[in-house]
Amino acid sequence: DYMNRIRNFCIIAHIDHGKSTLADRMLVRTKTIGDREMRDQVLDNMELEQERGITIKSHAIQMDHVYNGEEYKLNLIDTPGHVDFSYEVSRSIKACEGALLIIDATQGIQAQTISNLYLAIEHDLEIIPVLNKMDLPNAIPEVVEDQIIDLIGCKREDIIHASGKTGMGAETILERIIEKVPPPKGDPNAPLQALIFDSVYNSFRGVIAYFKIINGQLRTKDLVKFVNTDKEYNADEIGVLKLGLNPRDMLSAGDVGYIISGIKTAKEVKVGDTITHVENPCPKAVSGYEEVKPMVYAGIYPVDADDYEDLRAAMDKLQLNDASLTFEPEASAALGFGFRCGFLGLLHMEIIQERLEREFDMNVITTVPNVSYMAHLTDGSTLKVYNPSGMPPSTSLDNIEEPFIRASIITAADYIGPIMNLCLDKRGELVNQNYLTSERAELIFNLPLGEIVFDFYDKLKSISRGYASLDYYVSGYKEAKLVRLDILLNGEMVDALSTLIHFDNAYPFGRRMCEKLKELIPRQQFDIAIQAAVGSKIIARETVKAMRKDVTAKCYGGDITRKRKLLEKQKKGKKRMKQVGNVEVPQNAFLAVLKMD
Ligand code: GDP
Ligand code: MG
Repeated sequence: DYMNRIRNFCIIAHIDHGKSTLADRMLVRTKTIGDREMRDQVLDNMELEQERGITIKSHAIQMDHVYNGEEYKLNLIDTPGHVDFSYEVSRSIKACEGALLIIDATQGIQAQTISNLYLAIEHDLEIIPVLNKMDLPNAIPEVVEDQIIDLIGCKREDIIHASGKTGMGAETILERIIEKVPPPKGDPNAPLQALIFDSVYNSFRGVIAYFKIINGQLRTKDLVKFVNTDKEYNADEIGVLKLGLNPRDMLSAGDVGYIISGIKTAKEVKVGDTITHVENPCPKAVSGYEEVKPMVYAGIYPVDADDYEDLRAAMDKLQLNDASLTFEPEASAALGFGFRCGFLGLLHMEIIQERLEREFDMNVITTVPNVSYMAHLTDGSTLKVYNPSGMPPSTSLDNIEEPFIRASIITAADYIGPIMNLCLDKRGELVNQNYLTSERAELIFNLPLGEIVFDFYDKLKSISRGYASLDYYVSGYKEAKLVRLDILLNGEMVDALSTLIHFDNAYPFGRRMCEKLKELIPRQQFDIAIQAAVGSKIIARETVKAMRKDVTAKCYGGDITRKRKLLEKQKKGKKRMKQVGNVEVPQNAFLAVLKMD
C-alpha cells in the first residue's frame, strides 16, 4: 500500500557534527543528485548559511531508495540547528515519524542535541543513533556510545558508525530508516489536514510553503484555506521536492510536498499553520500552532540620513522572505530616523544586519540589543517597553519585569566552576546539576534573557574552550531591580547608548562603558567628556583629549598625491561615523557594550 513505502525523517545534530555532509552522502547514494552535481552541502544553499556553517532555514528533499526489491520514498526534512529557530525545529519534528540522531564521535552530546532529542521523543519519533566522523583518529566511540545509551536506552549495536568524509555507514543509515522508522499514519479519505513546517520566498514564484499531509488528499487547482490566517488560495501548483520542484497532480496522506498559490509575502504563511479545503474542511487544525514572537530588539539606522527610504525598502524586502523579522519606524535624538526591529535572537539579528549590508549594500548602525520589558506604572497600567530610552522615569514606575529563560548548559566537568561563576555573575540561579557521565554535566539555570543577549554565549565558549553548549527557552517574566543607565557626550545624552541594567551592576557597568567608549571614540579638535548617569546622577566619567597634531603633517610636506590619498582615506573612515551633537562617534561605539570584558 502507498503509505507503507513512505518514510519521513529529520536529522538531529549539533552544529558541525556533520548533518549536511551525511545528508549529502545519502543524496548521492540514492542518486537524488549525481556525483558531478554534488556541490559541497547542497542543503545549505544560502551563501551566508554556507559561510557560517549552519542551517538557517529548514528544507525538505525526497529520495528514492530500493530495498528488498521495493521502492521507498524517503523524505528528509532538514531542521535549523540554532536556539533562535527552535519553534521551526518543533514543527519539522512534528512532520516526521523518525529522526537520525547524529553525534560527532570526537565531541559527544551537546545541549542543543539533547533538547531537540527530547522534542523528538515527545513526538514519539523513532530515533536512529549515528556516530559520525569515525574516520578521525581522536574519535572516542565507546565514551560517546555510553552517553547515547544513557540518553535513549538503545543497544550498543543499534548505533551506526559513519563518516561523512569516507561515506562509511551511508547505506546502513538508509536501510535502517526503512526498517525502523514507521510509515506515516493518517487517512487519505478524511478531509484534508496538512501541516506547514516551513516556507521559502522565491522572487519569481512568490512564497513556496512546505507541508506534510496528515490526512486527506490535495490536488492542483483545489481551493484551499490556511486555518490560522483564515485566508483562501488556489493551489496553482503542488509537488514534491527533489533537487528542484517536481510538480504533481495529487498528493496524499503521508506525503511531504510544496504548494505555490500566488502568495506574495512570507507573513501570510505561518509555520505551524494547517492547510485544508474550503469545501469539506478538517474539523481541527494541527495542534501546537504558535505565533513566533521576537525576543530581542535593536534599532537599525542608516549611517547617512538620506538612505532612510532605501533602508525601509530593504527591510520590506527582507520581511517578504523572513516573517519572523518585525520592524517599525523609530526616531532617535542621536541617530535620527531608523527602525526598531524585533528578532528571534542574536544570531537572527546578525544575519539581518549582514544581509542588509551584503544584499542591499546598506551602511547601517545597529544599536545595542535589548529584550522587552513590562513596566508596571504607579497608575496601575502596564506598558511593554522595547527600547531602554522608552522606559518611563522611575517616579512613575511601580516595578519592572524582565523575561527569564531556563538554560541548559552541557559541559566537560573541568569547566563547571568557571561556568557557575559566569552564570551567577549574570544573575543566574542554579536549578539543577546532572552528571551525564563522570566527565560531563548538565547545568540548569534560570537566567535573565537580557544578560544573555550581550556576550554570554561568547564568554561561555571562551571559558570552556568551546566545550560547553547552551540551549534555552523563555520561561516567563520576573520582577527585577532595573535602572536606566544613560551615556552623555559633552553633556548631551545619546539615547541610542542607553541600557537597562540591574541596580547592583550599574556602577561597574557605567565605569566600563565610559572606558570602552574612550577607546572607541577618536580624538577630535576639542576635549570630549564621556559620562554615565543613572537618573540625574553621574556615576562615571572619562575624557577623550583634544587632538594636537594635524594628521597630514605626517606626510613631510611635498608629496601632494599621498596627502590626497590620506584625506580620501579619512573621508571614507568618516562615512562610518555618526555626528552626535558636536562629537563624531564611530559606528562600532554603538555596540561598545558588547565588546566590554
Ligand atoms: P553540520 O553543521 O552538522 O551540517 O555539519 P557539516 O556537515 O557542515 O560538517 C561540519 C564539518 O565537519 C565540515 O567541515 C565537514 O567537512 C566536517 N565533517 C563532516 N562529517 C565528517 C566526517 O565524517 N569526518 C570528518 N573528518 N569530517 C567531517
Ligand atoms: Mg549544515
